[in-house]
Amino acid sequence: MLIIECPHCGPRMETEFHYGGQADIAYPADAAELTDAEWGRFLFYRDNPRGQFRERWVHTAGCRRWLTITRDTLSNEFTTAPEAVGTSGTENAREDDRSPRGVAHSPRKEDQP
Ligand SMILES: [Zn+2]
Repeated sequence: MLIIECPHCGPRMETEFHYGGQADIAYPADAAELTDAEWGRFLFYRDNPRGQFRERWVHTAGCRRWLTITRDTLSNEFTTAPEAVGTSGTENAREDDRSPRGVAHSPRKEDQP
């Protein structure tokens, strides 16, 4: 069982959190211009490193806030303290507006009448 140090609530068991996938995935600035292949790559292609991996977690049974943590995929240990998302700069704040699972979809030009 992993213990995650929520920056808002303190140490909590992993079962209080949900995994949110790879961190630092920026929403495309030109989403309406992407081809289906490019959109699919943005939605589904993620790194799968052997070692350090920055990832998102959300404290669903607590404060319901998103965190970014670096985890070593070999040892399954967190190697950095969790960072609260949306509190340290404009890029994080922009990413805080969406969840990794619920990415807002902008209709493509060919989908519009
Ligand atoms: Zn929390």
